[in-house]
Amino acid sequence: MRVDADRDVCIGAGNCVLTAPEVFDQAADGLVDVIDPEPAPHLEQSVRDAVVRCPSGAITVGGPGRPGS
Ligand code: SF4
Repeated sequence: MRVDADRDVCIGAGNCVLTAPEVFDQAADGLVDVIDPEPAPHLEQSVRDAVVRCPSGAITVGGPGRPGS
């Protein structure tokens, strides 16, 4: 899985950070920072939950990422 977040769309709600703190962080400006753009397979469900919970639709996921993910 490959994770991207559009900082031009992010409104800094922080839901992604609460949902998948291993993958997302908030930068000093409050907007999303993807700290692990190719998360391990065991993190994929929480990333998908973060996509659903993001109010702005800033997060996109795609593949392929790391082999086996
Ligand atoms: S949940 Fe969406 S709007 Fe909120 S910080 Fe994350 S990417 Fe930005």
